[in-house]
Amino acid sequence: GELKQDDLVNICELGQGNGGVVWKVRHKPTEKIMARKLIYLEVKPALKTQIIRELKVLHQCNSPYIVGFYGAFAVEAQISICMEYMDGGSLDLILKKVMRIPEHILGKITVAVLRGLSYLRERHRIMHRDIKPSNILVNHQGEIKLCDFGVSAQLIDSTLHTFIGTRSYMSPERLEGAHYGVMSDIWSLGLSLVEMAVGRYPIPPPSSQDIDDLFKEDPHGNRPRPEGYGCHKGLAIFELMEWIVNETPPSLCRSHFSAEFYDFVDRCLKKSTTERADLNTLLHHSFYKRYETESDNQDVSSWIRQVCRMDTDGTNDTNNRMK
Ligand code: ATP
Ligand code: MG
Repeated sequence: GELKQDDLVNICELGQGNGGVVWKVRHKPTEKIMARKLIYLEVKPALKTQIIRELKVLHQCNSPYIVGFYGAFAVEAQISICMEYMDGGSLDLILKKVMRIPEHILGKITVAVLRGLSYLRERHRIMHRDIKPSNILVNHQGEIKLCDFGVSAQLIDSTLHTFIGTRSYMSPERLEGAHYGVMSDIWSLGLSLVEMAVGRYPIPPPSSQDIDDLFKEDPHGNRPRPEGYGCHKGLAIFELMEWIVNETPPSLCRSHFSAEFYDFVDRCLKKSTTERADLNTLLHHSFYKRYETESDNQDVSSWIRQVCRMDTDGTNDTNNRMK
């Protein structure tokens, strides 16, 4: 049946973004746990109906690399999108718990993101538009999935003005207001990978001395993240955008990462779209190849469970102790 407001019970808030808030909810008729994203939209009823209709395409998005979709509906000025609940959360939250994400996990993340992007492109002829750590979700089974991609043209249009962040994962061509396309997602992936590898939003780039110090103190990045770490004041959003458009793109330091990983992000972070690697090239890159072959999620699963302090069934250690 159709999802409706009265069947959903809030459990807790999962997070807030610029566009709205996401709740963990229980669907009473099926007992299913879901994530419900609420987007506040002050638009005409006809537009809302159109957005809901366009969002229904999500029912056709079935891939192990795309977050599952249960339904969408509008209540007054709120649009609700109900999706698969991912118990490991998003990679920005994971990055708040550890100093850095190790290269072999980033390899698996890269494989999942590229496969997700290629699924969206091949089967649905769409680009993602918003690749960043908060839109890559993980669970205790070691699955890695994309969410919040642009399926509804009308929703994209209606929420354009809400973009005011403190960081940007947008490509130089998009920030310049030029025509942009699928190559823009590749830039966003490269920037996200550098951030997760180093443990800090990479613009402006940290000095190589800063990086050496960080890696010397904690070579594996397993130490819990000190309060306030990585939340450097950095640049104001306009200066940041100017930096992305005008300065040398960020890169990984060669001393702490493999040559393949270094080269992979280097090819994603070309300012010129003609120099930047496209999806097909990256699907043949040696960094992708290194992680593509291992088909099981076991190492990602155990890493996520360790970071989130979960047992093999995804329950929380501390909850169990209280039982
Ligand atoms: P922005 O609004 O700038 O895009 P964002 O992606 O963090 O930022 P939201 O998309 O509103 O904002 O999501 C808020 C948070 O909710 C996310 O950071 C994520 O941690 C959590 N979240 C979203 N979807 C799910 C889900 N399906 N399962 C578990 N947690 C989720
Ligand atoms: Mg999001």
